[in-house]
Amino acid sequence: MSLKLDGKKLSLEIEEKLKKDIESNINLTKRPPGLAVIRIGEDPASGVYVKNKERACSRVGIKSFIYHLKDTVEQKEVEQLINKLNTADDIDGMLLQLPIPMKFDEQRLISKINPDKDVDGLNEQNIGKLVKNEPAMRSCTPAGIVNLLRSQNIKIEGKKIVVIGRSLLVGKPLSLMLLNLNGTVTMTHSKTINLNKICQEADILIAAAGKPNLIDSSFVKEGAVIVDVGIHRLTSSDKSKTRLCGDVLLEDVITKVFAYTPVPGGVGPMTVTMLLVNTIFSWQKKFVLSSTLENLLP
Ligand code: NAD
Repeated sequence: MSLKLDGKKLSLEIEEKLKKDIESNINLTKRPPGLAVIRIGEDPASGVYVKNKERACSRVGIKSFIYHLKDTVEQKEVEQLINKLNTADDIDGMLLQLPIPMKFDEQRLISKINPDKDVDGLNEQNIGKLVKNEPAMRSCTPAGIVNLLRSQNIKIEGKKIVVIGRSLLVGKPLSLMLLNLNGTVTMTHSKTINLNKICQEADILIAAAGKPNLIDSSFVKEGAVIVDVGIHRLTSSDKSKTRLCGDVLLEDVITKVFAYTPVPGGVGPMTVTMLLVNTIFSWQKKFVLSSTLENLLP
């Protein structure tokens, strides 16, 4: 039977540790870690993600500050808010909930975030540190995936790893993290020729293409580890039901693989947990506490 890489279970275990890390230092710091979330507009999925983040913060003892702005707001006003939060004493982490409406210059806003508070790890300075393999905040989804693999002692060093997708959010930072851990990484994308054949070589195959059920068993080597980053809500033909699926057709690959991540309950919960890790990492740094979290930031 193949091994389920249970992100939900691992995220709860890490959260228990985070809670203790906060409790044992709050007498010294006199305030909890603070996370600011900026949401612009009414994208319904963003609403759900922000709520989940708020709930996760309260589970471990992080204070969250939600700034929900109307999409009529100007770029300059968002920049002013970011500047204010950059220097706010009670805020250790800040993120811009993506996607934001097209009229905004997303990269410019991300660049404005103080790198020490950039809990999504998307600011150029933190990406630069990842390229140089120096400690810093790491992008949440890729870091969550690495922790999920490590939690089951899945070896990365020397393994052939194929990453499908080259986005700044997932594919690129993940490839760099795995490379830093001495994996032999191939990054693929929508213009890759012979994707199927390349994937068949992989000891670890990571699907982050954002295409429902793209990967069936013909892409997968016997005994491989498969990580499914994709998350899609599919509606039945009569529109009466919806269900979640990933980029991987799990029922087709499950008997062939050594280990797999489920959707939901795999990569998703780890992403939120890594946001908490980054926020507490920043709080520990601010109060010059010895960090207990570096091993979670690949
Ligand atoms: P994106 O659209 O920014 O990037 C997709 C990447 O996949 C691109 O680099 C593209 O070149 C590549 N691609 C697209 N079609 C392909 C194909 N047929 N073959 C090979 N490569 C292909 O998406 P993203 O932000 O990287 O997210 C990818 C998926 O992961 C989405 O489904 C997203 O919802 C999901 N996601 C999940 C989490 C989580 O926490 N579970 C977090 C982030 C993203």
